[in-house]
Amino acid sequence: MVVTNNPIGSPHNTMNIHGVQRPFLISGPCSAESQDQVLETAVALKEKGVHLLRAGIWKPRTRPDAFEGMGIEALEWLVQARAETGIPVATEVANKEHVEACLKAGIDVLWIGARTTVSPFAVQEIADALKGTSLPIMVKNPMHADLPLWMGAIERVQKATNGPVWAIHRGFSRYGQQEYRNAPMWEIAIALQMAKPELKIICDPSHIAGRPDLLEPVAQKAMDLGMHGLMIESHCRPSEALSDADQQITPTEFGALLQRLAIRDIHRGPQDSASLDALRLQMDSIDEQVIELLQARMTLAREIGQYKKSHGMTILQMSRWKEVFETRGDWAKAAGLGPEFIATYLEQVHKESIRVQNEEMTQKNIDK
Ligand code: PEP
Ligand code: MN
Repeated sequence: MVVTNNPIGSPHNTMNIHGVQRPFLISGPCSAESQDQVLETAVALKEKGVHLLRAGIWKPRTRPDAFEGMGIEALEWLVQARAETGIPVATEVANKEHVEACLKAGIDVLWIGARTTVSPFAVQEIADALKGTSLPIMVKNPMHADLPLWMGAIERVQKATNGPVWAIHRGFSRYGQQEYRNAPMWEIAIALQMAKPELKIICDPSHIAGRPDLLEPVAQKAMDLGMHGLMIESHCRPSEALSDADQQITPTEFGALLQRLAIRDIHRGPQDSASLDALRLQMDSIDEQVIELLQARMTLAREIGQYKKSHGMTILQMSRWKEVFETRGDWAKAAGLGPEFIATYLEQVHKESIRVQNEEMTQKNIDK
């Protein structure tokens, strides 16, 4: 990696991620909140061997009253932190004004956030503003599970710039409270890697997990899948963070997490076994999602059990079961799934639904 200690405002470095031994490490706060916070975090992260310091300056927030970042003045804090620590710096850009301000300030690496990747107009505007530059650009996956949209954003940037483009896998949003803040859907990242074998993919366990205790298994999985790097949010005082307080960890915790990770050499075997591995990994991920969906279905069955109980209804309603059986049979047939297979599956699911509804009804009786 080429890392120079840039004076404030000088042109960006050219980082060479290819030369860095896995994992390429990106860390720093979700948002730059004050000069001291950025500096304190950066100094602590330097000890942990971080290759790139991250901090959001402009925060795309879901709700209007949330903290929206400190804006342009915070760019100086990043540049200052780089001057003190020698760690190159990165921030998120969402429009051409952001790009221009970052280029002027000499920011080393930029990334396009998940809410921006969904919009080809916004991505194209950013790509146009980057025309002819050579700083690395990282493209996060879009909010929703759309591989071609992610690839399209990467390609728009690749066409415009002379520098490297990396992908960041940060998981996919979906409705309802789930184990992960954003579903990893590893098979999408794997499919991206298969479509673009040269592309470096960095995993962002923070936005996938949404909570500290899940960071490590997600980071480990990313390493086991051969991803090139990790982007993990860290803050010197996570509980005081103005954004994403629930998922940030201290630089010390970040260091400890890294120590525990097993980084295996991803020696890909002959072409055939590599693609067999990739197919199996996709299958693992799909099974994981099937199980999560079944869990969500059983949670609904429990709610239905409570409803039936409070309305004095029986668990088994033959007309509803008949309808479920017939419609699912038709859907399965249209999807090319064998009728016997789907019938067995439906019977098992129905049996389990009855069991949990029954449990719901009897258990509540004991409580009362
Ligand atoms: C972030 O990195 O803080 C961020 C806003 O991420 P995402 O675009 O993945 O939501
Ligand atoms: Mn964040």
